[in-house]
Amino acid sequence: QRTVPEPMRLLGIVLAFGGVRAIDGVDLTVAPGQVHGLIGPNGSGKTTTLNVISGYYRPESGGMAIGAAPLPAGDPEGRAALRIARTFQTPRLIGEASVLENVMIGGTVDGTAGFAEALFSLPRQRAEERDLEARARLALAAVGLADLAGARADRLQHSELRFMEIARALMLRPSFLLLDEPAAGLSTEEIRRLGALVRAISRHGTGVLLVEHHADLIFDICDQVTVLNLGKVLAAGTPAEIRVHKEVVSAYLGA
Ligand code: ADP
Repeated sequence: QRTVPEPMRLLGIVLAFGGVRAIDGVDLTVAPGQVHGLIGPNGSGKTTTLNVISGYYRPESGGMAIGAAPLPAGDPEGRAALRIARTFQTPRLIGEASVLENVMIGGTVDGTAGFAEALFSLPRQRAEERDLEARARLALAAVGLADLAGARADRLQHSELRFMEIARALMLRPSFLLLDEPAAGLSTEEIRRLGALVRAISRHGTGVLLVEHHADLIFDICDQVTVLNLGKVLAAGTPAEIRVHKEVVSAYLGA
């Protein structure tokens, strides 16, 4: 029985560190099947927002929900069951394990807590392991890394690790995928491939929240964009609207 995909909503999220509000009343809606860009200057609260959604930080106030179901604050381990996946600014990997194993881990936990433990907890049952492996190979093929499945993860180049992280996140068949600066350190050609991949992922129904500095990528592939400044939403709208938004141009995009 299939359920209709529902949007993820954040309403009035507030979180302070040592009395300073890192995010201060953030509203955000990520629709299934859409790419939602989250942009803004350094320190504007983008990563903090991702960490609240993925349960690492517990907001002081505000609410989160998927459709009518509240999304519990905190509880990062519970996000996998809700099929909320993420990648990190610095790719996480077990260097001495194979690329394939690093991706298989994504099918068992959300790739956050107990990373090394996750490797040991990969299924010992042959059938289950074969299923996980087959899915990991599909995920690697989807991100263009099929040929590197057997390589040690610490042999990969930076850009390949970024794509590997996305493959790992895809193992959850995510309803929502949170990407933290996936284009950092990528070449123009790699960014083009990344953009096509993210669009393909969203076409399959996943709601993507994309934190990214690379303005061209944001405007090329996003359906909606939210701009943060000093922890508050400065503007939200389509790329066409955001591009010409006066305050956004002066606070962030530059003249
Ligand atoms: P962005 O991702 O937009 O660069 P961040 O969400 O990382 O911004 O940071 C927003 C603000 O919160 C910044 O002022 C930052 O210094 C502060 N901040 C983020 N994480 C922490 C933390 N763990 N402890 C203290 N301050 C933090």
